[in-house]
Amino acid sequence: MSEFEDENIDEMKCSHCGKYISADIMRCPECGNYTDGLGKFGDGVNSDGREPMPRIFKIAGWLLLLSLVLPILLALYQWANQH
Ligand SMILES: [Zn+2]
Repeated sequence: MSEFEDENIDEMKCSHCGKYISADIMRCPECGNYTDGLGKFGDGVNSDGREPMPRIFKIAGWLLLLSLVLPILLALYQWANQH
């Protein structure tokens, strides 16, 4: 299940700095990053096997941003044409 040493289950490898830290803490004392598996030493997958940030959420975020910015740009365009 885990690629880490099974005889030392109370420790886990920090996905950001690679140091072995206590598995029951959420934040690495070495580098201060959260142990979310997102660092350069992580595989991008949480311990429960799910992706921490599915790609669809990022796309939805961009679409949301676009839907907020687009009316402003259109209003500016119309305002610019009136003057
Ligand atoms: Zn760390």
